[in-house]
Amino acid sequence: MPDSTPSKSGNVRVRFAPSPTGFLHVGSARTFIFNWLYARHNHGTMVLRLDDTDVERNTDASVQSIFEGLRWLGLSWDEEYKQSERLALHRSAAHAIFASGLAYRDFTPAHAAEGEASSSQGAWLFNPGLRELPREESDRRAAAGEPFALRYRVPRGEGRMVQFHDAVYGPMSKPADEIEDFALLRSDGNPTYHLSSCVDDADLRITQIIRGQDHLTNTFKHALIFEGIGAAAPQFAHLPLLVAPDGAKLSKRKHGPVVSVTTYRDAGFLPDAFINFLCLLGWSPKDDREFLTLDELTSAFTLENVNRSNAVVNFTEEDPFDAKAVHLNGEHIRALPVEELSARLQPFFEQAGFSASPEKLLAVTPLIRERIKFLKDAVSAADFFFLPQLAPYDPAELIPSKGGDAAMARRVLQTALEILPATPFDHDSLDQALRTAATSLGLKAGPMFQPIRVAICGRKNAPPLFETMIVLGRDVCLARIQQAESKLGSMV
Ligand code: GLU
Repeated sequence: MPDSTPSKSGNVRVRFAPSPTGFLHVGSARTFIFNWLYARHNHGTMVLRLDDTDVERNTDASVQSIFEGLRWLGLSWDEEYKQSERLALHRSAAHAIFASGLAYRDFTPAHAAEGEASSSQGAWLFNPGLRELPREESDRRAAAGEPFALRYRVPRGEGRMVQFHDAVYGPMSKPADEIEDFALLRSDGNPTYHLSSCVDDADLRITQIIRGQDHLTNTFKHALIFEGIGAAAPQFAHLPLLVAPDGAKLSKRKHGPVVSVTTYRDAGFLPDAFINFLCLLGWSPKDDREFLTLDELTSAFTLENVNRSNAVVNFTEEDPFDAKAVHLNGEHIRALPVEELSARLQPFFEQAGFSASPEKLLAVTPLIRERIKFLKDAVSAADFFFLPQLAPYDPAELIPSKGGDAAMARRVLQTALEILPATPFDHDSLDQALRTAATSLGLKAGPMFQPIRVAICGRKNAPPLFETMIVLGRDVCLARIQQAESKLGSMV
């Protein structure tokens, strides 16, 4: 949803302009984030524009996926547009370009022009017959109802260059003769991406176009269109590609779910950790810090520090997530206030079928936060707090690892059953009571605590013992220790 605070002091206006033809790709998410950071850093305006003019490829599911992904990131925007609602503006801009002589009617039947994209790499640059068609004849054929596309009249002649400056890639220049007379309007009257994009960018007073490097070559055409509509071109900044470890451009077809934002969400990434990770793909702060909060990213972000080389996302068949992303996620998890982390864990417990009360989860969260890399790890790390019955475990686990036996473990549990009913359930009392009991049994703390820990958690690898006992409460602890004691009874 657009942000409700309308007053923005700066003049900077940037836009994120996804085409709703697929799910939200991690590369698109990075483009959104860089635009957002640029806008917020400069106290400017963030525009979301759905480039939804390709009716054959647009899907509602894609629109949903884009909004779902952006909502998860938690970054707001200030204005929202749909390109499909602005077609009249695009058409009238095309006609104005035509009227100024910078475009011409192409009466080639649509099916014959279909090969345009591929032929632009080859011989087909423009159709001189139609480009030079006298205006009267062009008018006459149009009036007679003959369908036509409108094509930009790219300036021709040796030495003519089309140029623009890119904030990342520097001065860009290309011989005009290598640019085909590209379409502005198709013969069905619909504007092309190039036209709609530039007309909207001009109309929405966009000051910086920050987008993927795959649009760098399109920008020569865009520079011509801005000239054609008499608007100053915004500043361009193209972002390096995200690539797989083998250097191939990240694509769903080739790389599967790892390129979708929701994969990170569902695995239990914190949005701020994911944002932090994406920002380091193609950008780095001047001081090369890696862990950055959203506020730190906002104040550090400048286009000067965007680099040109492709950014590698490291993943393998077995491990879909880059080690840096996972590491940052752990750091962000530990940096989050406990209340917020706890609220973020709640849906993962719900999804796993636990009824975890917010109060109890809040008490459990500090005990597991050091132990999880993904939010969803919390469920397996803390399930025993919420299960009415522990999942079955091997009673041999109850036996202290170093030189213990079942009889020793049983004595520990029996002692615990004797002292815990009268021990206050606070850290110091438990600590003192259990250590004193260990001494009287002639044991060190380790062999004393292990049987109790396994009895109440069902595993050796668990959070700190006393805190865990306090959260579970005396009754649950006693019941579980009693059960464990009986299991051992059948072993000695
Ligand atoms: N709709 C285009 C895309 O999704 C936008 C490109 C641009 O930012 O101009 O690739």
